[in-house]
Amino acid sequence: MKKVLITGANRGIGLELVRQCAKRGDQIFAGCRVPENAADLKKLATHFPTQITILPLEMTTETSITECAIQVEAKTNSLDIIFNNAAINLGDESLSAVSAAGLLQTIHVNAVGPMIVAQKFVHLLKNGTNPKIVNISSESGSISNMTRFRGYAYYGSKAAENMYTRALAWNPETEGITVIALHPGWVHTDMGGSEAHLSTQQSVAGILKVTTGITPADNGKFFTWEGNEHPW
Ligand code: NDP
Repeated sequence: MKKVLITGANRGIGLELVRQCAKRGDQIFAGCRVPENAADLKKLATHFPTQITILPLEMTTETSITECAIQVEAKTNSLDIIFNNAAINLGDESLSAVSAAGLLQTIHVNAVGPMIVAQKFVHLLKNGTNPKIVNISSESGSISNMTRFRGYAYYGSKAAENMYTRALAWNPETEGITVIALHPGWVHTDMGGSEAHLSTQQSVAGILKVTTGITPADNGKFFTWEGNEHPW
């Protein structure tokens, strides 16, 4: 049984992560912005009442992340896996339409938020078994992939998240924790859209297989949901 924190747990890939982790017997701390409105997550939790704890977690509010860590600590002194999954994509921007507010908001949710989550939960991971931070990033964050114009805010935020992944991986303060970035594939969710190739079930099955298979030798790597290394 793993003890797992999942951010953005109320829909999309995050919700499916909760479902598949619950089915394999994990204890899950499911973070979401507004638990009162998280109907699907609350329904899922009724099937696994001893395993799923729903907690408020707003990625752009440091006190919310701190408070979430305090609530997790009230239940356990260790965590084994953090899935930093919550993110936004405001859509493609042209140079004329891009705004400082949009760029900053996207970086805040997608890169700064996961970084602060790592900071506030690191002491619990240090007590975990083979502890791991899995930053659900994107091939959109690969600088080498940007060979034609694709957008600004989301792409830059995921590149920042990738760099924070590498920095966390090599920081002596996280020694013993395996930190990776992971591209979940193109997935049929609100963000991925209806044309996407993968169901959340397929993507999450891959994400969990990769997460289970990684060892400390994989620290600082960028993987696809299929377990291949992704170029930075
Ligand atoms: P969705 O848009 O379906 O879900 C996003 C989740 O993030 C929601 O739970 C949302 O909560 C949460 N979230 C957004 N902003 C915040 C915030 N400020 N604080 C807390 N939670 C927040 O996305 P996906 O499930 O598709 O994506 C999951 C991850 O996978 C993301 O990191 C994304 O970048 C990545 N990814 C997805 C791809 C795809 O094809 N779907 C492709 C590549 C990467 P709320 O309901 O409150 O808005």
